[in-house]
Amino acid sequence: MILDNMSPKLAIDGGIPAVSAPSGPIFPGSMLIDEEEEAAVLQVLRSRQLYRYHGPDEEPSQADQLENRFATHMNVNHTLAVNSGTAALICGLQGVGIGPGDEVIVPAFTWMATATAVMLLGGIPVVAEVDESLTLDPRDVEDKITPYTKAIIVVHMRGVPGHMKELRALATKHNLAFVEDCAQAIGGSYSERRLGSIGDVGCFSLQLSKIITSGEGGMLISNDETIWKRAVMFHDVPGAERVNLAPEETIWGINFRMSELSAAVALVQLTRLDGLLDQLRMQKSMLKSGLKDIANRKGITFRDLPDKDGDTATTLTWFVETPERAQRVTEALQAENINARVLYHPDISDQHVYAHWSGLLNKQSWTAEGGPWRWAKREIEYTPDMCPRSLDLLGRSITINVNPFMENTEMEETVDGIERVLEVLT
Ligand SMILES: *Cc1c(COP(=O)(O)O)cnc(C)c1O
Repeated sequence: MILDNMSPKLAIDGGIPAVSAPSGPIFPGSMLIDEEEEAAVLQVLRSRQLYRYHGPDEEPSQADQLENRFATHMNVNHTLAVNSGTAALICGLQGVGIGPGDEVIVPAFTWMATATAVMLLGGIPVVAEVDESLTLDPRDVEDKITPYTKAIIVVHMRGVPGHMKELRALATKHNLAFVEDCAQAIGGSYSERRLGSIGDVGCFSLQLSKIITSGEGGMLISNDETIWKRAVMFHDVPGAERVNLAPEETIWGINFRMSELSAAVALVQLTRLDGLLDQLRMQKSMLKSGLKDIANRKGITFRDLPDKDGDTATTLTWFVETPERAQRVTEALQAENINARVLYHPDISDQHVYAHWSGLLNKQSWTAEGGPWRWAKREIEYTPDMCPRSLDLLGRSITINVNPFMENTEMEETVDGIERVLEVLT
């Protein structure tokens, strides 16, 4: 036990910060971009083939190669490259047949795109609670299923796999489509299967803040040929020409195609994925073991991990007793140059929490006639406090982004800084 008068003064009280310099924001994949990505892009530019289907020199398509390698990496039969994670979700939802008036269960904690993709197709998002894993709570999902529910979207938020076994069972029992939003958890797994390959369809983003990136981009995966064919047709105006179906089976599409330049970058980034995950996991386990003593002593609970081995380890999150305490601890950690934040504050806008989705809460739309709710088969009400448990948990959770490239001294300083703060403030 350290005596109070011997422990260093917290930086927030005027002491010297535990970590010598603040580390900047962390973008794992883009921080690795080097000559390999440069060469890949240059090669495409020099070939003048910037479009996946043809060009002056008829080079093999980068998007084709990306789809093939992604299929191997994820161990699935079918993949599709698109231009964003949102597009992947729209194509995936369309692939499983979501249309006007269909209810789709989404978690209270996710990037708003999970819900906007539903709305774009005329579907009705129904928001369900997250539990201590900060992913969908299967018990609340079951309570929210109605005769009009058509799908569940699990979101592996901040790198952590959701409750796949329980949700899969629910989807099967109620005959619902099961969609995985893997935008924040590419390469993660559950029961040794890659995330995205367990549901009916898996959707990924390659936008800059994700684990690996092509700046903008997305991928869709499925083992179901029909879902995949529908997605191919929807993502591309003439997509029906790619899937070899009878004319009466084809549907029209819009344009979500991936550019060859993005595909070239994504191909290189994919080769970096598993190494990056190894580094993230190593750093996170160092952090966690460094904090074991203080966590035990102070009775700190970490976020629940439905599959510990499948965690992508991009984040470390724990709960404190009250939102006020969470704010104080976070401010103190920031003063120590540790990049911590609280996942929800009612006054700080953040589109990762449903209580800030004003477009949904107010049922806003592009037209005066109103959005998808005009097709709803029952009265749908949204209120900012409709998922109180999620708001409580998120308001009390302190999270830090794991830096895959952290030096040992900075790791030691970080552990020391967190210990100091928790010692005094919890
Ligand atoms: C980033 C993200 C998306 C959307 O991906 P974009 O490529 O930005 O369209 C969807 N869901 C989640 C959980 C995300 O984090």
